[in-house]
Amino acid sequence: MKLLEGKVAIITGASKGIGKGIALAFAQHGANVAFTYLSSVEQGLALTAELEALGIKAKGYRSDASDAQQAEELINAVVEDFGRIDCVVNNAGITKDGLLMRMSEDDFNKVIRVNLNSVFNMTKSVQRILLKQRSGSIVNISSVVGVKGNAGQANYAASKAGIIGFTKSVALELGSRNIRCNAVAPGFIETEMTAILDEKTVQGWRDAIPLRRGGQAADVANACVFLASDMSSYISGQVLNVDGGMLT
Ligand code: NAD
Repeated sequence: MKLLEGKVAIITGASKGIGKGIALAFAQHGANVAFTYLSSVEQGLALTAELEALGIKAKGYRSDASDAQQAEELINAVVEDFGRIDCVVNNAGITKDGLLMRMSEDDFNKVIRVNLNSVFNMTKSVQRILLKQRSGSIVNISSVVGVKGNAGQANYAASKAGIIGFTKSVALELGSRNIRCNAVAPGFIETEMTAILDEKTVQGWRDAIPLRRGGQAADVANACVFLASDMSSYISGQVLNVDGGMLT
């Protein structure tokens, strides 16, 4: 069953990793996909071709989600190209890890700007479109680290916890207009990035997870498909942990 047939979705930071997995899952479920990438035009074009091969309309936009003006221009361009917007997945994110003692103000601000301001920028810009349509689903990618904290990631944890507060507030503000807003909190997800880590260390992480494996991008993507679809039409303001049972 295709859950997103005919819907238009925007996914930020989709050229690789979890974002790419979300774009592919949305396309497999029949959504037309607008996605953003930051630097690699080739990766953007390759993903567009991969998505179009699934029989939907796809377009990549080079856009920095942490820049309010670029987010506004992106929303305008997507409405012009696709006619409407049904769902936004705010996936773009970075880490700049380090113990607080050694964390520079710049490393703190940069992570907040890319991870949290980006969610504000995109949501603020898209809300007038969703309000006009009187429907929409916003899915923000947080993290178990935002729920629970993590030594060496104070900046990242603050940004991801901020996303949760923002998500719940938007759900309260826009619920009366049939606009839903939820967060997904992935645990340890194995991507290109984790593939280069020491296998023994990674196995140690897997062993500590109740389901005894790292998550795949598709695990997070499936949760996003559900939250973007009408299957979740009475769910808003929630944080869905996708973590193999890590936070129970
Ligand atoms: P990744 O580094 O592979 O992908 C991040 C994507 O965001 C990249 O495509 C990058 O180009 C893009 N991006 C970065 N800054 C951007 C900006 N300013 N504007 C637009 N795009 C930008 O990482 P990932 O593991 O796929 O993570 C995706 C999301 O999931 C992030 O928000 C991350 O915090 C979150 N997350 C990941 C894990 C994990 O274990 N991998 C766990 C919890 C949460």
